[in-house]
Amino acid sequence: METNVPGIYAIGDVVPTQALAHLASHEGIVAVSHIAGRDIEPINYDLVPNCTYCVPEVASVGLSEEAARERGYDVITSKFPYAAAGKATILARTRALLSW
Ligand SMILES: Cc1cc2nc3c(=O)[nH]c(=O)nc-3n(C[C@H](O)[C@H](O)[C@H](O)COP(=O)(O)OP(=O)(O)OC[C@H]3O[C@@H](n4cnc5c(N)ncnc54)[C@H](O)[C@@H]3O)c2cc1C
Repeated sequence: METNVPGIYAIGDVVPTQALAHLASHEGIVAVSHIAGRDIEPINYDLVPNCTYCVPEVASVGLSEEAARERGYDVITSKFPYAAAGKATILARTRALLSW
């Protein structure tokens, strides 16, 4: 998180990574750890968890299908009928598909 000016650090929305609160916090920990001279585990930006507040809510981690294809991965996608999830039945919202 150190900028091209030695001793000046940047974290959170001011750096061109995903604009997420938990990522900003982790970048802050990395920056402070570096300042303190501790060993640092670099952040793997491919593994930042996300929540999408749609209905139904979706949690995700890893590359999107598009990003994975751009990197040359052979991508397999799947779809899951939301009706098969207990929560969908409880909410009486069974007409949806989850895909990954
Ligand atoms: C509407 C909205 C919804 C969001 N929802 C989510 C979500 O559900 N989950 C999630 O993970 N992320 C969410 N985010 C993104 C998340 O809020 C940001 O990624 C995160 O707050 C970035 O942290 P930060 O410390 O970089 O910036 P900020 O949290 O914006 O902190 C910057 C601070 O600096 C202060 N400041 C600015 N200028 C000065 C100055 N000149 N002098 C002193 N202080 C200054 C500001 O007042 C502010 O307190 C959302 C953002 C928005 C706008």
